[in-house]
Parts: sequence; structure tokens; C-alpha cells
Amino acid sequence: MNPICCPCPRISSVIPPILLTKDVGYKLRDDPEALKLASTDYGHIVREIPSAVLDPSSTSEIVGLIKSSYNLSVPFQIAARGQGHSVRGQAMAQNGVVVSMTALKHHRKGTGILVSGDPSSGYYYADVGGEQLWVDVLHATLEHGLAPVSWTDYLYLTVGGTLSNAGIGGQTFRYGPQISNVYELDVVNGKGEFVTCSVDKNSELFYAVLGGLGQFGIIVRARIALEPAPTRVKWVRMLYSDFSAFSRDQERLITINGRKDKNALDYLEGSLLMNQGDPNNWRSSFFPRVRGGELKLQSQGLWEVPHPWLNLFIPKSQVSDFNDGVFREILLKRNITTGPVLLYPMNRNK
Ligand SMILES: Cc1cc2nc3c(=O)[nH]c(=O)nc-3n(C[C@H](O)[C@H](O)[C@H](O)COP(=O)(O)OP(=O)(O)OC[C@H]3O[C@@H](n4cnc5c(N)ncnc54)[C@H](O)[C@@H]3O)c2cc1C
Repeated sequence: MNPICCPCPRISSVIPPILLTKDVGYKLRDDPEALKLASTDYGHIVREIPSAVLDPSSTSEIVGLIKSSYNLSVPFQIAARGQGHSVRGQAMAQNGVVVSMTALKHHRKGTGILVSGDPSSGYYYADVGGEQLWVDVLHATLEHGLAPVSWTDYLYLTVGGTLSNAGIGGQTFRYGPQISNVYELDVVNGKGEFVTCSVDKNSELFYAVLGGLGQFGIIVRARIALEPAPTRVKWVRMLYSDFSAFSRDQERLITINGRKDKNALDYLEGSLLMNQGDPNNWRSSFFPRVRGGELKLQSQGLWEVPHPWLNLFIPKSQVSDFNDGVFREILLKRNITTGPVLLYPMNRNK
């Protein structure tokens, strides 16, 4: 992360040795184990070695670190790191300091996820630390019969990490990405100031930080919108031989109105597989569905390989061209379809 007042991301000084050797209110690590972890990510494509890592035990340590950098004539780079599931070094800081946010979890003393709400108005929310994993947010809220309005499909990501991107998943078409379902943030900005922001308060910072790729501050708390948890899910699998029928049906599915319309879908006859979800155990099978794939890849040693990964938003008018140019001409013709391709229909107005 670069201080807000310094828009050039590559200008950075080295860390003054005093910050590494003296007690300055926080303790930096520069042991090989800490540096190695902070210089890799899920992508395994780029490697940037920081000078040090901060395992914060409080928000004030993050404040202190950013102030140290901001007060230098040429600040050093600081990057927050959640789970490090980025693919191109977004959570790295060459010669700078990586703030290992998950360390905060051990110091929250039960305050990492606090669920509140008012049943009469239906206004429910959770105040969660930026370091918390979505899977833990989900389990904590389910205990109150509530759940985040918008989830990622894979839940072993941090709140701060996905809110710095977008946070997309199966509910995005209906409720928007996770960044559209946040009421308030506590942020340590690029000057090392602790700022609470929302749509009404310091809104410029609020909108900059949400989807801001960690460039405008470190999220230390987010107030997440909740709703009564669903009591069951329905999974449907349909097969298609024709891309245009598939994309047409995706659009129909997100605008579908009532049971009758489902007959209008164009999937291959006989290919429909419906899982109504066992009301007693659907949570244990539905939520970890991507995690299962992860554990399998890990057991095959495939989690540590390079992962080129691209997320694109394609307008409806270009979907067919994209299919012709990328799927047919590149992926299929060159037979390089070794990784999964996920296509989510979205509503732009969400
Ligand atoms: C297996 C897998 C499944 C995935 N599934 C989904 C999915 O279903 N939906 C989806 O939307 N994405 C998904 N992603 C992508 C993922 O959301 C992003 O990579 C996200 O950034 C990862 O969160 P993280 O905690 O690993 O963040 P990191 O990779 O550690 O950080 C991501 C960015 O956020 C910044 N950052 C981290 N914490 C903070 C903070 N507290 N404050 C400010 N900035 C911060 C970092 O500096 C960096 O720029 C997936 C990735 C993988 C590898």
C-alpha cells in the first residue's frame, strides 16, 4: 500500500534500521520464514521480497507502522496481506513491510466478529475484523440464524482481502458483490490515521477503499450487511452443447420469475440434475464445496504450482464474440483447457 498522498507505487525508500532493531511500538520480523511466506501468493507467478513483516497484535501497531513510513521523506511500501490468495503479488511489498493481517485474529479476544441487529426493522449486521475469514463470519452469524447477504463461493478468504477486490459469488447477481453490502469501515489510511467511513461519513475514503486493491488504507473493521439465513439451497446442473443457449439461459436464470419460466430453458434434454439440499446438512455440503476442490489439489501437490488467473467482466453484447475469439479460437483450438473457467451472470445494476 502506498500513502494516499504518494500516487507513484514504485518510489519507496528502504526501511530505517531503527524500525527493525528498536522497540518502536511494534515489532517487525525479518526472519527467513516470515519473509518467505510474505513473498509468495497463490499465483506463484511473481515474487517480491519485503524487508520485514508485521504480525500486528493491535490496530495501533498498524497505525504506528504507517505513520513511520508516512513521516519519511520517501515512504517505504506497505502491503496488507490476508490469506495471500492473490495471483500477481497484490499483497506483496518489495523492500517494504507486509502486514500479516491474520495475526490480529489471535488478539481479538472474542471481538473479531460481533453480530447485532434489530428484528423489528430487519436491520442486521456484523462488525468483523478485516483479518477474519468469511467462513468464520458465516459460522458466527449462522448461530444467530443470520448470514451475510453476499458471499464468495470460496470462503477461506479474508474480509479485508475480498473487500479490496469485489467479492463475487453465487449471490452477486441478486445482491451485488460484497463491496455493495458493507455499511461502514474502520480504515487506517495512508497517513496512519484511524478513520471510520461510510456512505455518509468520509465517503470518499469509503468508496476508495472498497475495491481499492489495498491502495488507500488498511481495513481493520467492516460492518457487513446480514439477512436471515436461508434454510436450504437448491443446486442445479444442466449441460449444454451450444454456448449461445447457455448464455441465454444464464440470463434467464437471473431474471426468472416463478417455476413456470424454468420450462423455457434450453439445456440438453435429460441432463438436468437437481439437488434440493438436505435441510439437516446442506450447510456442511454447500458451503465447503470449493474448499473440497482445494484440499484435493493440495493432496495432489497442485496448490503450489503457478496459477495464471484472470477475472473479466464482459458486457452481454460481447459474450458471443468472447466465446468465438477466446474459448473456440484459443482454448479449444490449442487444447489448453486444463484449468476451470467460471462464468457468472451478473446484473450490472447491482
Ligand atoms: C481458490 C480461490 C478461490 C477464490 N474464490 C473467490 C470467490 O469465490 N470470489 C471472489 O470474489 N474471489 C475469489 N478468489 C479471489 C480472492 O477473492 C482474491 O484473491 C482476494 O483478494 C483474496 O483474499 P485474501 O484474503 O487472500 O487477500 P490477499 O490476496 O491477501 O490480498 C488481496 C488484496 O487485498 C489487500 N488487502 C488484504 N487485506 C487487506 C485489508 N485488511 N485492508 C486493505 N487491503 C487489504 C492486499 O494488499 C491485496 O491488494 C479466490 C481465490 C482463490 C485462490
